[in-house]
Amino acid sequence: MSIDAGLPQPLRRLLFDADLDVEAPYTSRIFTNRDLAFERILAVGFDMDYTLAIYRQAELERLSLDTTVAKLLARGYPEQLQTIRADPEFAIRGLMVDKTYGNVVKMDRHGYVGTAYHGKRLLSRPERKALYRAQRLGMEHERFAPVDTLFSLPEVNLFAEIVDLIDSAPSLWSETPLPTYNQAWNDVRECIDLSHQDNSIKGQIMADPSRFFEVDPELGATLHKFRSAGKRLFLLTNSFYPYSDAVLTCLLGDQLSTYETWHSYFDWIVVGSRKPGFFTKQEPFQELDIQGQPIGAPVAEPRRGRIYQGGNQAGLQRAMGVHADEVLYVGDHIYGDIVRSKKSSGWRTALIIDDLEHDLEVRYARQITLEEIQHLSQLQIKLTDEITALRYLARLLSRMTAAELVKTGVEHATADAALDEARNQLRHRFERLRKYEEETADTLRRRIGEIDGAFNKYWGSLFASRKDTSRFGDQVDAYACVYTSRVTNFRFVSPVKYFHAPHGSMPHWRRRR
Ligand code: IMP
Ligand code: MG
Repeated sequence: MSIDAGLPQPLRRLLFDADLDVEAPYTSRIFTNRDLAFERILAVGFDMDYTLAIYRQAELERLSLDTTVAKLLARGYPEQLQTIRADPEFAIRGLMVDKTYGNVVKMDRHGYVGTAYHGKRLLSRPERKALYRAQRLGMEHERFAPVDTLFSLPEVNLFAEIVDLIDSAPSLWSETPLPTYNQAWNDVRECIDLSHQDNSIKGQIMADPSRFFEVDPELGATLHKFRSAGKRLFLLTNSFYPYSDAVLTCLLGDQLSTYETWHSYFDWIVVGSRKPGFFTKQEPFQELDIQGQPIGAPVAEPRRGRIYQGGNQAGLQRAMGVHADEVLYVGDHIYGDIVRSKKSSGWRTALIIDDLEHDLEVRYARQITLEEIQHLSQLQIKLTDEITALRYLARLLSRMTAAELVKTGVEHATADAALDEARNQLRHRFERLRKYEEETADTLRRRIGEIDGAFNKYWGSLFASRKDTSRFGDQVDAYACVYTSRVTNFRFVSPVKYFHAPHGSMPHWRRRR
């Protein structure tokens, strides 16, 4: 029965206006890892880059590539680097760069490497096993670099291309010594870092923001809906003021006429926040004017309606007058925004995962194949178990003698024949099952290949690694209270919604079958 049945018309109207949960398209759903009573959230904070501001990844990758390659050429890297093309599919979040071997690897939640590329060449199973037999790789910081943010995707592709060049054309480095893979990684990292800091990337974005961002026409309305429900909003970004101003003017500048500028959507504004340090250190807040120039001395608490740079979590929370668990922080960076804010501050967290839309689309379009994979995997387990048991039985039978059989009551004259007959039967059964197992494994491989290709031709799904959750999927599960593909999906949600997490399960909680 509908909630509004039987209510008088004016009350029905009120309910309708309050927008109690509206059914969202399946790609816009919000998924819950940890129960969250939205009604008890008093303040909602937003990161900017890749959270409020969705970059056109291909454009950004091309720009990062051009600016970084220019810097690498100045360091003596060969001109051929200019021919490297952007390849936004090659890098996804959650990967690890093995600097020592020039590889890029994807791990499952146990740290097991299921897919690895040397440069951009897929390693065969034996090659991969030889290097990554041990689990829980990635802890040696000298050797492995995690790929945690969307900003770092272009450098992974660039690094892989350079590794291929080092292998295939070392003579290109005629003027300077051939770099090791490790040096090449450090050079790429330093050059891209510099491109972010010296304005070579930001300058071009600010000159033409609409080329680099997808403007979501629902953004203003979504933020307005939060505010109408009495929630206080804040901006907390690592980007500095002039850049934040240019980006948010492009995204929110002329969305709702009731908001004069983007500033009016937020009660508190903190730029240049130095997350994750913001959550753990005690830096003061420096007030800025509308041009981004400092005003007065730094302060311990920000004031409402002003712009600040720096700061810390405790000061902001005091200024807002809320407890940690009454704050929801919406961000895209699994470490800087989510892990740190969850671990250090106790804020509730919402993770924005742009790629989730594509992942859901593939899952929906390929439901039948996914079901088939599940079915075939179960069948494969059954077949493997049975084949192992048959092999064991065959070993026992091969050792058994006719004399032993006679002791169990079989007639002496027929014992040899009975033994042969049993061995024959067993062999036939074994061969039949082996063939069946091979066919099953073959179909399974093909189906997994099809589905992986649909997710991402290099890596498969962002959230899965072979039959398990990927390292990234595991981090999402561990640290994000809720996750969704974009901020504006919150427009479908009632301000009093209770996000229910599926109840946890351990292998021994399952019902016996
Ligand atoms: P947020 O996501 O809004 O907190 O801000 C991310 C900021 O970090 C952006 O201004 C990026 O340009 C900047 N950024 C991302 N990657 C790098 C880097 O490698 N070096 C320096 N700054 C970076
Ligand atoms: Mg961000």
